[in-house]
Amino acid sequence: MASVNERLDENAAGEFYVDQSCIDCDTCRFVAPEVFARDERIEQSFVSRQPSSEAESERALMALVACPTSSIGTLSGVSAKAAAARFPEIVTENVYYCGYTAESSFGASSYLIERPDGNWMVDSPRAGGPLLKNIASMGGVKRMFLSHRDDVADHAKFARRFGCERVIHRLEARGALAAVETKLDLNEPTKIDDDLWAIPVPGHTEGSIAYLYRDKFLFSGDHLWWSPNVGALHASRRVCWYDWRRQIRSMERLLDFSFEWVLPGHGRRYQAESPRHMRDEIQALVRRMRSA
Ligand code: SF4
Repeated sequence: MASVNERLDENAAGEFYVDQSCIDCDTCRFVAPEVFARDERIEQSFVSRQPSSEAESERALMALVACPTSSIGTLSGVSAKAAAARFPEIVTENVYYCGYTAESSFGASSYLIERPDGNWMVDSPRAGGPLLKNIASMGGVKRMFLSHRDDVADHAKFARRFGCERVIHRLEARGALAAVETKLDLNEPTKIDDDLWAIPVPGHTEGSIAYLYRDKFLFSGDHLWWSPNVGALHASRRVCWYDWRRQIRSMERLLDFSFEWVLPGHGRRYQAESPRHMRDEIQALVRRMRSA
């Protein structure tokens, strides 16, 4: 729970505040960009402007719910019950953003794909009660596809609650992940369901996988994301834990596929004007990566 005594001096005066426990995960800034911003000096989020409408207050409360460290508070203890029930939130078509990020995943995003023959999840959120309830009412989770070891949050709780099959690259299946039901030995892109490719993208970690759904949505884990600072698709050498050269080759591998959306673990999601534009942007990113 956020502490009013530890709220940041940078917050705009008023009801909402961010306290000193913020880990700069970016979640609040894309859930409620009208209210939250990043202070470059302290490298944390703060309330740049108090909400000025019901809709903005609702978005700020959704950010409060989604925050991995409970760093967002309200002076009068405004109820977040309605906001808590708004996740998973539709992104487009049958793809949802789960909110409820976890500190153990450093606030990584996860997604739900609603399907008539059983829902899929990509990476895991925190197992918040209202989220579990809503997902249960949508039919639960049949399969959970994990991009790599860092963005797995409460995967075990979801497996227990919904009996879902968890899928990860064998190279990532260590520690608590050793119990994952399906370990993929992948070196090449492989179709693992009618409309799902598992594309190995070693680099950020050795066993990172990007999942391509319906040749349209690329769930990219921490391999690729849209950066508001760069103003373009991005991958960072600073957060490459395994091998930067291999990450560049993995990025080139994506040029063999057609997709319009990038839905990452960290960083912003992005929709290109067309698959052709996406391809051009990936090519430009590969050039930037080679000179990084
Ligand atoms: S969601 Fe929470 S931890 Fe993440 S940037 Fe916002 S206040 Fe900080």
